[in-house]
Amino acid sequence: MSLVKKLKMLYEKNPVSKQIVEMIRKYAKKLENKGYRKINIMNFCGTHEWTITYYGIRSLMPSNIDLVAGPGCPVCITPGSYVDILIDLSFRGFNIITYGDAFKLPASPRSRIRSLSEAKALGGKVSIVYSFLDAIKIAKKNPHEKYIFFAVGFETTMASTAEPLVKNTIPSNLFVYTAYRLTPPIMEYLLEKVKDVELHGVIAPGHVSAVIGSNAWKFIVEKYSIPTIVTGFEPIDVLLAIYFILHQLYRRKPELFNEYRRVVKPEGNLYIKGLFERVYTIKNAYWRGIGLVPSSGVFLSSKYRDYDARLIADVKEEDIRNDEIPGCRCGEVVLGKIKPTECPLFLKACTPEKPYGPCMVSIEGTCRIWAENALVNLDINI
Ligand code: SF4
Repeated sequence: MSLVKKLKMLYEKNPVSKQIVEMIRKYAKKLENKGYRKINIMNFCGTHEWTITYYGIRSLMPSNIDLVAGPGCPVCITPGSYVDILIDLSFRGFNIITYGDAFKLPASPRSRIRSLSEAKALGGKVSIVYSFLDAIKIAKKNPHEKYIFFAVGFETTMASTAEPLVKNTIPSNLFVYTAYRLTPPIMEYLLEKVKDVELHGVIAPGHVSAVIGSNAWKFIVEKYSIPTIVTGFEPIDVLLAIYFILHQLYRRKPELFNEYRRVVKPEGNLYIKGLFERVYTIKNAYWRGIGLVPSSGVFLSSKYRDYDARLIADVKEEDIRNDEIPGCRCGEVVLGKIKPTECPLFLKACTPEKPYGPCMVSIEGTCRIWAENALVNLDINI
């Protein structure tokens, strides 16, 4: 469907979204009159970025509103050094199992082999699964082989490894290499340390909040006075979130509001949070293109050391170093400092078919989303 058709569907044919867009325009104007020449609203999550881009929501925004993509793509920020370690292990008798997007994730620039996909082509043992449960099945079927599951993700995917560990359903020939990261610490890091990105509103992630609870984002309002809306993934959810943010800015009353109450509870999912407490331990961890983020990394606790692939690799987290790929500006993209189109390699040396940097790999990566929906910034007056 062309962008114009999508916009017509979203805006002209749907009286509800039409009304919300009109309210957005009205409040944007009122705020402009109050001196807000630019209002930056960050959508944390890659899936929100997809909704905004696919449905051309940026094209509907008044000129003083900028929708800024945030760090909500776990593959984009997974250290390339982890990939180096797993490439090495894939040639040392271990079968590496992971998701399709981590399979293509670029290794660090220090690695001779550029990804797990390339390692496989050169004879390394690497395979793709859809879930950790598939990895368990494969390992059980082949008890004489050794497997390592490369576990990439945010809070939404952490449960998939935590529950089998607690229920003791993992065979002894399957190990887990966690690359899990927590989302609130990176948001705090961004607000605290990244001074050149001024945010006036935050659209908090819906799926993650279903696990951790909407209350996990209270600090953004309490400490930084920034309107924060937990919202769903339909275009109308996103439009509503933008409207609520503008309304709060106009009233000068920043609040945390949960628009996604059909899925998200203030306290989150207590069962899953209980699993996390039993299985994981939290430490400072490196985010690719960003640096060391306090209390953001998720590692297996000592109780589950028999399954911990880190002990096989024997690489300390402190040794994980900067692994930015020369010329790739992914670190700036995930922090909202630049748009993908500002990277000179965008759709030239870096494409979804042949990704050069990590933000072009995953379906949640901002560069890939923009590349696959190339008309994102088209200025259409409806
Ligand atoms: S377009 Fe490619 S090289 Fe440029 S920032 Fe995005 S992922 Fe990196």
